[in-house]
Amino acid sequence: MILKTRHRLETIEDVEEFYAAIQREHLTKALSEDRPYTYWTIELYDQANGIRGGGGLGILAADTRRVAEQMNAPLTLITPFYPSELHQKFENGRSFDVSRRVDYHDFGFELLDTVNIRCNKDLVKLEVIEKEFGSTRILAITEPNFGELYSGDSCGDHRLYQEVALGFGGYQALKLAGLKPAIMQLNEVATFFAALARLDELASNGMDFYEAVVYTRKHTLYTNHTLVQAAEASFSYDQFERYVFTNLKSKAVKKWLSDKFENGRIRLSSVTIEIAELKSGVSKLHARVANYHDLSGEKVKFKAVTNGIDIPYWVLPATVKYYKENGILDKFTLPTADFETAVDKVDATQIRALKSQGRAFMNRVLARRPDQNGTVLKFNDDEIVFDFKRRFVDYKRPWLPFTDTVKLKRILENHKAHYILTGRVHQGDDRMMARLNEVLDKIKSDEFLRTHVHYIADYDEELARALSVGSNVSINVPIVGLEACGTSWEKDIANLCLLISTHDGGVADGPSDAYLNVSGASEDEEVARLYERMEEAAAAWENDFDLEFWQKKQLAAFLPVVSGARMLRDYLNYLF
Ligand SMILES: *Cc1c(COP(=O)(O)O)cnc(C)c1O
Repeated sequence: MILKTRHRLETIEDVEEFYAAIQREHLTKALSEDRPYTYWTIELYDQANGIRGGGGLGILAADTRRVAEQMNAPLTLITPFYPSELHQKFENGRSFDVSRRVDYHDFGFELLDTVNIRCNKDLVKLEVIEKEFGSTRILAITEPNFGELYSGDSCGDHRLYQEVALGFGGYQALKLAGLKPAIMQLNEVATFFAALARLDELASNGMDFYEAVVYTRKHTLYTNHTLVQAAEASFSYDQFERYVFTNLKSKAVKKWLSDKFENGRIRLSSVTIEIAELKSGVSKLHARVANYHDLSGEKVKFKAVTNGIDIPYWVLPATVKYYKENGILDKFTLPTADFETAVDKVDATQIRALKSQGRAFMNRVLARRPDQNGTVLKFNDDEIVFDFKRRFVDYKRPWLPFTDTVKLKRILENHKAHYILTGRVHQGDDRMMARLNEVLDKIKSDEFLRTHVHYIADYDEELARALSVGSNVSINVPIVGLEACGTSWEKDIANLCLLISTHDGGVADGPSDAYLNVSGASEDEEVARLYERMEEAAAAWENDFDLEFWQKKQLAAFLPVVSGARMLRDYLNYLF
């Protein structure tokens, strides 16, 4: 069985040739050690380095840096170091958040120096800290009262302060480190102020204002993750007077920015569109449907660069080794030129052997992370594990599999299966907290479900990885049209889980018959389909032929999408 996919190596077909090309052309001319690719993000999800994010946006940032390190590309990631972070605790059947202090000294960061920004006419001193990793580094700005990621209201003063600190402080931090940005990638509009700082520097150092705008635009890439522009934060003129204008040197830039207010408010998305000539969305579907308009009313075109993952980080080492030794992935973890032929040779015995190793790894993690009853979980190889692991937000519909608990119960009973649910509610989202409690109550009220459905608190990278490598079937059912890309399903496919999913986000980069698709004209129909798919997935693990059939389909259709090296290559191809 050989599936032809639309997705492979779009610009330069030969992998070696591509790497030769970036070494030759991009790395030596456009990018260099002191003129790196700069990646700006308000959120980084990199727990090994003491920085915990909220979700996919931060995971993407961490994966991008690690992939650049593996490709030996000079990349500097600029982000805040939040001195406190929230963790979810679970006690007496209820979930709540606790705040924890984090000290950057514990994670190998070095203090470079301090820089100042001006807020409310006061000077605020920011520490610039640095950590190097091969050809890449993390430059972070911080101060003891910086607060938590996404604390407070998205249009509030503190959020604006954090964003201004990252942009203006981060831009000065680059100079401290002796770096000039070859390109500025803005990971969402919260990083707009970095491009503004650059524009201000150029315009206040003698460059003609319009030239400065053209120059800044040419070297700025805005990566959008949000579908609806109206949902984005906006700020008042008064807030900008207190936090933004005070940091600008150029009168022309101030004037330019003042003109962007409409009815006394400014939307960061509108100005980011103005300051970035290059614009990307995070999957093919998302780039097509993201509904953004510039200030003249013109619809914005986004280039699709689908998010990939850092395969060596997320995938069980034995599985990566297997892919490499069997001609599926090359040394850069990109699919080989004939990976589809190689995938066709995957067999159930190998899949089960790798899953068994993954299961052992998962059990080691679960040993530290008891479920809602305080039970320490341990699963044998012959037990089927379903998982649902993602932020507890409305559009991802974590409650969907609990719509008909009688059906859910029957599936779990019939197949000696368990269901693991994990995901945090965003602080202050009372509606979703109530929905989580509803699900927990349903589980608690049934004796069978109580011992076969497990909620694990404080969803994080460790759990994400453990479940991907160790579970059998993962469930991803966002409302179609609302997931920008999603990357947990990519971790699952690469780790040989069967994927049950709606056709949305990055999943829609591939054909809808390449995984266990959930669709329907109404939510009731989707729910019915979901239970059928759960039944099918469990049965597939009990039968070598079906297991091979679905695994081959998934790998052939999605490995190029999943590859983070492919993503970085797509960005470099777009930029240079
Ligand atoms: C991979 C990952 C995500 C991304 O999840 P999606 O819902 O697929 O966007 C979020 N949080 C953690 C901890 C992850 O590991």
